Amino acid sequence: MTNPLRIALLPGDGIGKEVVAVGKALLETLRSRRGLPLELTTLDLGADRFLRDGATFPEADQRFVRDECDAVLLGAIGDPRVPSLDYARDILFGLRFGLDLYCNVRPVVCLADSLMPLAGKRAEHCNMVVFRENTEGIYVNVGGNFKKGTPDEVAINEDVNTRKGVERVIRAAFGFAKQHGRKRVHMSDKSNAMSYAHGLWQRTFKEIAVEFPEIEAKHVYVDALCLQMVRAPESYDVIVTNNLFGDIVTDLGAALQGGLGMASSANVRPDDARWTNVRSRCRGMFEPVHGSAPDIAGKDLANPLATVLTVGMMLTHLGFEGEEAKLTQLVKDAVAAGMTTRDLGGDKKTSEVGRWIIERA
Ligand code: ATP
Repeated sequence: MTNPLRIALLPGDGIGKEVVAVGKALLETLRSRRGLPLELTTLDLGADRFLRDGATFPEADQRFVRDECDAVLLGAIGDPRVPSLDYARDILFGLRFGLDLYCNVRPVVCLADSLMPLAGKRAEHCNMVVFRENTEGIYVNVGGNFKKGTPDEVAINEDVNTRKGVERVIRAAFGFAKQHGRKRVHMSDKSNAMSYAHGLWQRTFKEIAVEFPEIEAKHVYVDALCLQMVRAPESYDVIVTNNLFGDIVTDLGAALQGGLGMASSANVRPDDARWTNVRSRCRGMFEPVHGSAPDIAGKDLANPLATVLTVGMMLTHLGFEGEEAKLTQLVKDAVAAGMTTRDLGGDKKTSEVGRWIIERA
């Protein structure tokens, strides 16, 4: 018998629990109906756990994920009962940084004409994939305050960019483009203002592009990218950018997909020892782009389709070819059938949409 692949489910907070419940039921169905060799373990991490015993991401859980799991499916972290973001940082960055998951892959794909918010555009005009650098930039939390709380206060956050960090994500973007027959890679930065940090991005991008002559390599300033994503999203195929800009442009991208409830993502580390010193069985954490959405949490209103798409990305990562395409088609079918939650203009509950998908999976 094939060794089972172990998936850690991390529902987390707010609507994360509701959408991961759908993801879990979907995975259980695929296991029983199609024999996918999956073993699921739910991790008790998030605000409830933190409020109960002060634990954020204990060493034992970190070890379990790193050494005994093949992937993590995460819902969302964030709870208004815990104003400090420290516990969320411990969990999210513990996974992203701890496992060195340096590529945050975010498809910005509109799956139905009815979801496209731009006049004169159809779904086919929005089909890009953003590679967001996931382990450096402004998120390393290097900085500090000086004369805090006084009128002379100084506040600094450093934007950290290393040659290795920049090169590996740019290579991954070109590699993805080549593997998937994508024609163009745009690198987006603000090198006209951040000449040192983004000068490194510019130089590295040009060097790597030479190795991929079949792929058109283009540069776009991030402000121009935001403008152009709205005016002509069809201009983009694969985009590679830094951690902060990737975060921002993919929220804009989510609006082109029908909203945050439709945006999936993968945090992955391609299997290449040249680019990381981390050795771990787990090389992927998968999460819908949205947060915990406290305003709708616990009301069965969350759109679970981003999670269904995210499960698809995870199954591809685990080597189950074909499952992602089937799940993507089911999401399209659900939208076409009006089987949608309020954010997409429908009147269905999270659980109803989940059941509909699972019955057909
Ligand atoms: P974070 O800071 O963790 O990214 P946030 O509060 O900035 O979270 P989200 O929680 O992702 O943002 O979402 C913003 C709003 O979008 C939510 O308050 C909610 O109204 C809506 N939203 C997000 N995700 C979904 C979803 N899956 N289904 C329906 N509505 C959603």
